[in-house]
Amino acid sequence: MPEFPEIEAIRQYLILNISNEVISEVKTFQHTVIRNPSKDEFEILLQDAILDHIERIGKILLFKLHKSKLFLHLYIDHGLTGKLAWSSTSQKVPKRAVFSIKFRNGKILIYHDLKLHGTIWLFSCKNNQQCGYPQVIDKFGPDISQISESEFIERLKRFNGEIKRVLTNQKFITGIGNAYADEILFEAKIHPFNRRLQLNEKEKIRLYLTCQSILFTSISKISDMLSKTNKLDNQHYWRQQIFKIHLKGKEPCPVCGNPISTIKARRITNFCRKCQIPKNRNFI
Ligand SMILES: [Zn+2]
Repeated sequence: MPEFPEIEAIRQYLILNISNEVISEVKTFQHTVIRNPSKDEFEILLQDAILDHIERIGKILLFKLHKSKLFLHLYIDHGLTGKLAWSSTSQKVPKRAVFSIKFRNGKILIYHDLKLHGTIWLFSCKNNQQCGYPQVIDKFGPDISQISESEFIERLKRFNGEIKRVLTNQKFITGIGNAYADEILFEAKIHPFNRRLQLNEKEKIRLYLTCQSILFTSISKISDMLSKTNKLDNQHYWRQQIFKIHLKGKEPCPVCGNPISTIKARRITNFCRKCQIPKNRNFI
């Protein structure tokens, strides 16, 4: 599942490549992922629209478009396996393609989703009206890129349980998922299963600062790779280049050389037992 750094790097890259472009053709394939509107309406509404801007709400991308006096807001939640990619007329449409959008400059943006877990919404509204939006957004906490250190520490008080679970709870802050949480906690030297109540003040500050440094360094590295390759659906490669611990179970820890631990519950967690000291008796 793409997380804040990947979505943000994709957003910035797409703004450079397709903002102010006009849509010349829209095709839908797997309509089940498109929550609303209907297949026909989706294609008709987007046809001839101009892409004004792309925003990000947590891990959701928001394409803002208009045509005449109609405003269109296209939301993309990638879910577990959704991916945006460039396509061409000579290329075969991927098996689980959901939609493709062709721009007048010839670029074709395709969204495919292997497990069809993502969600797409398209809302339209006239001048001076408020466009609809996915209700899930109401539950989101502040964006990790927008929150101050004091606000972060203050909000932490409201969320109990293991710190990794808190960090990936989108009600606490939006943007961080399973993979980057492992990277952040490793860098901050905090054991993922330590409970929020067990964190001292220094660790809370370190956690905040590490979130910022890991996420912003990752955006910069991904943007660099994207501009060199123009490959949008290259998340696996980006992570291989950036990650120190996530999905690297049994490999030596890059700091101490101890083998990296893996705990597989609903999701995979990787950590170093030597660098990330457990405070929870179950993990000592
Ligand atoms: Zn280590």
